[in-house]
Amino acid sequence: MVHAQGVRKHFGGLDVLKGIDLTVERGQVCCLLGPSGSGKSTFLRCINHLERVDGGLLAVDGDLVGYRRSGDKLHELRESEVAERRREIGMVFQRFNLFPHLTALQNVTEAPVRVAGVNRADARREALRLLDRVGLADRADHYPAQLSGGQQQRVAIARALAMKPKLMLFDEPTSALDPELVGDVLDVMRDLAADGMTMVVVTHEIGFAREVGDTAVFMDEGVVVEAGDPRRVLGDPEQERTKAFLSKVL
Ligand code: ATP
Ligand code: MG
Repeated sequence: MVHAQGVRKHFGGLDVLKGIDLTVERGQVCCLLGPSGSGKSTFLRCINHLERVDGGLLAVDGDLVGYRRSGDKLHELRESEVAERRREIGMVFQRFNLFPHLTALQNVTEAPVRVAGVNRADARREALRLLDRVGLADRADHYPAQLSGGQQQRVAIARALAMKPKLMLFDEPTSALDPELVGDVLDVMRDLAADGMTMVVVTHEIGFAREVGDTAVFMDEGVVVEAGDPRRVLGDPEQERTKAFLSKVL
């Protein structure tokens, strides 16, 4: 589903991604770990067309990010085509980014109705199903300010799912939460993984990465230092940099 080969990204003179190689198969969960500034968010943003890749190859579901193939030629995507591709990818951020003036239910129905042209009754039915799935059936009419951080984050997940994405990206979805709220969000993500969703998850929740991840990828300074079975990468890492990092987060 995600294939990265030598992906490079710089901001001015700062090389942030220095050749990322990474593959996430359909239905797999890839957990991405690494120190602050190592380029994790930048990599997720590249997958989702929020940053432009400067070098290497990055493909989602067989399509090169930022380009469309016609015959043997590559054409840069137009803005509308980028929007179309982005619709197929759900993204959940550290901060919940819900629309504050809309209820939980309205937050979840907004994009299907306005962007995908789903009729309001169907969107509402699906949104209620999704809110139920994330354990918030009884909070549909609450505004974000009336919800806990963990509940807001679960609404954000439901909102992303409402667009029926083929890939979900999570950027430290639990790191802004009070510790007692983390579990509910991770449970929702665990269910989603069990359901077969392809996911790339930036997280420092080592337990989650070990249990739910099909692969763990440790990044540092814009490169993949070590990748593989989470139990090995996180339990018995080969690289000194991975060991040093894990000794700090554990
Ligand atoms: P954290 O764990 O703190 O979220 P990260 O691994 O997600 O870190 P990134 O946010 O990808 O790291 O940032 C990698 C580097 O790129 C940092 O040095 C950051 O300052 C820089 N950077 C990110 N976005 C931009 C931008 N739009 N312009 C300039 N520099 C940027
Ligand atoms: Mg980040």
